[in-house]
Amino acid sequence: MQKLDTRIFGTTEKDIKNAAAILKEGGLVAFPTETVYGLGANAMDDEAVGKVYAAKGRPSDNPMIVHIADEEDLYQLTYEITADMRALMEAFWPGALTMVVPARPEVSRVTTGGLDTVAVRMPDNEVTLNLIREAKLPLAGPSANLSGKPSPTTAMHVFDDLKGRIDAVIQGEPCKVGIESTVVDMTGEVPMILRPGIITREKLSEALGKEVTIDPAILKKPDTFNNDGLLETGEDYKPKAPGMKYKHYAPKAEMIVFVGEPEKVRLAIAAEKMERVEFGQKVGVLMFDNSNPEKAAHDFFAELRAFDKSGVDVIFAAALAEDGVGLAVMNRMFKSAGYNIREVK
Ligand code: AMP
Ligand code: MG
Repeated sequence: MQKLDTRIFGTTEKDIKNAAAILKEGGLVAFPTETVYGLGANAMDDEAVGKVYAAKGRPSDNPMIVHIADEEDLYQLTYEITADMRALMEAFWPGALTMVVPARPEVSRVTTGGLDTVAVRMPDNEVTLNLIREAKLPLAGPSANLSGKPSPTTAMHVFDDLKGRIDAVIQGEPCKVGIESTVVDMTGEVPMILRPGIITREKLSEALGKEVTIDPAILKKPDTFNNDGLLETGEDYKPKAPGMKYKHYAPKAEMIVFVGEPEKVRLAIAAEKMERVEFGQKVGVLMFDNSNPEKAAHDFFAELRAFDKSGVDVIFAAALAEDGVGLAVMNRMFKSAGYNIREVK
């Protein structure tokens, strides 16, 4: 891959114009959103989105979310806004919700990983909404990290991973939410959550006035990863979002998730930390307040990256309850640890 001189843009009108010009020419620009930083490219251009997979080292069957700024942009991507889509748009856009809908033929099948559906989101970030409007393009934007690494929640994280691999990064605010959007499949009879996020099943059901389902595969805990970084389990493990089957978000250090009653988990972590320290290991501990899973979501990836920088040998993480926003945090936490789970009795 050709080494690029990655530019760092601010958020002035001139910066946005320059960034939009790069995107129009088929280049790659990382942009801030409220969830995590995205790596933008023209979603309608096979060659431009092809470069995104290469820059990230992302498997080509893992489709990207397309970012739009205005409702009418949707018609470039899909044919129809259904009543359910309208209800969710009104309740949550701009915001941390991605809808999977039927894709028009004009949408690059490189963007969709070969599928005839496309994932769409309107992010809640003024700078990026202006960028999309200025470029007049729907932007494919997977998380702006190297594939497999913790997602980036600051422009510095993006730079650390992708310097020399992308044309530019826009240095906006650190991300408010900190984990990726909720992905919901709108193509079936009943909307189905393919990836949990801060917009929970309860909130979606309330906005729609009916129950939504959760892809059963995301509630399963596979045993291990094979050599291709694919999750493996004894049973069939076929999540409907292709990206959910890959190893993800991994810090450099070994990571163990301790599951059990919070007080027992705290004691178990303290005891094992003492042992490891005696062996001369550097130990990182991740313990979040169970009553504030939003804060855990906000800090999670940034903490993993901080541990990478400080060179810990092992990370012990205390599990949160797997409900509401906690389900979304735990989905990331288990993956980061490669499902290395310690049950505390
Ligand atoms: P990222 O772009 O890194 O935030 O990941 C996007 C997630 O959405 C991945 O898990 C993808 O597999 C999933 N996704 C994107 N497009 C589709 C689609 N058309 N159908 C199902 N899942 C999708
Ligand atoms: Mg990602």
